[in-house]
Amino acid sequence: MNAASHVEKVIIIGSGPAGWTAAIYAARANLSPVVFAGRPKQVPSTLLPGGQLMLTTEVENYPGFPHGVDGPKLMWAFEAQALRFGTRVVTDKGVVTPDASQQFNGREAAYQDCVKVDLSARPFRVFGEDGKALLAHTVIISTGATANWLGLPNEQRLARSGGGVSACAVCDGALPVFRNKEVAVVGGGDSAIEEATYLTKFASKVYIVHRRDQLRASKIMQQRALTNPKIEMKWNKTVEDVLGESMITGLRLRDTVSGQVSDLPVGGLFCAIGHTPATQFLAGQLELDAKGYIKLRDPYRSTTSVDGVFAAGDCVDSVYRQAITAAGMGCKAAIDAERWLGEHGVH
Ligand code: NAP
Repeated sequence: MNAASHVEKVIIIGSGPAGWTAAIYAARANLSPVVFAGRPKQVPSTLLPGGQLMLTTEVENYPGFPHGVDGPKLMWAFEAQALRFGTRVVTDKGVVTPDASQQFNGREAAYQDCVKVDLSARPFRVFGEDGKALLAHTVIISTGATANWLGLPNEQRLARSGGGVSACAVCDGALPVFRNKEVAVVGGGDSAIEEATYLTKFASKVYIVHRRDQLRASKIMQQRALTNPKIEMKWNKTVEDVLGESMITGLRLRDTVSGQVSDLPVGGLFCAIGHTPATQFLAGQLELDAKGYIKLRDPYRSTTSVDGVFAAGDCVDSVYRQAITAAGMGCKAAIDAERWLGEHGVH
């Protein structure tokens, strides 16, 4: 069998908690998985290597780390564990097993993004940035979802440097830096209300900054926020700028009705303006819902609309979006893929 016609047992697309967990399970099942981990720092990138935790400073809710762990460190540990069992990765130099002892940034060859798939015929074809297709009996998609940001330069700078700007209150809200501070949540959907309510446990006051005078959130969630004495609504306001040098000190707001600009002093900003699943490259190949999340055939499994294609993590999950839930789904996808291969006589 020559290299061009070699068919991989399983190709995993995405390298967050779901992708690397799928790789750990698949590698330990001797499936010799190949991972498209994504190219670091490429903007726009289909895949963020390591996923959303690479943008997090401290993770305090991942079990097993009683004193917390850096998001990137956690993901390097996932990756090293997958590589230790022989997981291969698509790089600019081809499909290789990187040295697990070398940290990501120190490696010689850059990881590739997956840019296209053809799931219409078997074996499936999965294309890297170099245009070359790898063939696969099964594919696990774990490309995640990105939190939407306002897109302001100071917001991005402070989010990257741990300056009190976050897109996940459940992940970051309990950090000491936000305790007894006045903080703001931007958005008007269920996430914004849920995050604001959660933050009232730690913050002295929570402002919800919303661009309209009506919430999109469900009535019961609205009621919860509007009757909470620690929550104050800032209606009809857009965020013009995020203030502060190394740490956020406030927001510059513009009133959408009067046009008036005002500053709101806060010690934290949480963006809750929705997520975008990284599934654009799957359009026409796999059934997606109206928001682009991959539809599962059975909510308790990882099976999708195409037999032999499995999905896990935030690209199928708009509700929980946690590293631990994504990792659990990655495990299920690898077990589903292994069973599929067994049932189809691929050893
Ligand atoms: P969402 O429902 O799409 O709401 C996004 C909110 O952000 C909207 O209020 C929107 O304003 C605002 N927004 C969007 N872009 C903005 C921008 N550039 N600047 C300022 N504001 C902006 O997203 P979500 O709240 O994350 O919810 C996603 C899904 O998960 C929904 O189906 C939701 O019901 C569900 N969910 C459920 C629960 C629960 O039941 N416990 C919890 C969380 C999420 P407009 O209203 O003006 O468009």
